[in-house]
Amino acid sequence: MLTADGIRPGEVTVQMPAAADAALIFIGRIRTPWTERLDCPRQGRLDGPVCRIELDQPWAAGLDGLLDYDKVEVLYWLDRSRRDIVRQSPKSNGETRGVFSLRSPVRPNPIGTSLASLVGIEGATLLVRGLDCLDGTPLIDLKPDRCSFTPVASPKPEGDSGG
Ligand code: SAM
Repeated sequence: MLTADGIRPGEVTVQMPAAADAALIFIGRIRTPWTERLDCPRQGRLDGPVCRIELDQPWAAGLDGLLDYDKVEVLYWLDRSRRDIVRQSPKSNGETRGVFSLRSPVRPNPIGTSLASLVGIEGATLLVRGLDCLDGTPLIDLKPDRCSFTPVASPKPEGDSGG
């Protein structure tokens, strides 16, 4: 149950600072089938619908090489979120948890991340499955699946039996 100001019973807000420290550049927009939060999945699914990530033209050259990967990590700005609720009640039952123990879109810096499967590239547009954001959500960054970059384990020191 949300009140008119978007706060559930028991939730706690903080006073937001007046100034911001870092400036992000939005590099495109994400096109999804979801226009209402209630219709949007809580987390993306790799068997979800194909969504379009439309990069702004100057960044299109940055897609070169991405098709070498099956999956892409997508970072986006959850632009329609409140940012000031430090204890939240995900079940709207008065029980609250700290924001950093949740993947709630409501957070001081509302960055969302999804590991999406790469379906294709059409010019400056990426086709992916696995997103969970509203249509028009601003894009912050794209990175190839981090598993492809996992460092190999360093060798065990001599005499280390591993126990
Ligand atoms: N997968 C991301 C993560 O774990 O960082 C986001 C998870 S968040 C729980 C996904 C929810 O955020 C959606 O179900 C929707 O309610 C909400 N949401 C999606 N796009 C949004 C936007 N542009 N602004 C505010 N809320 C949004």
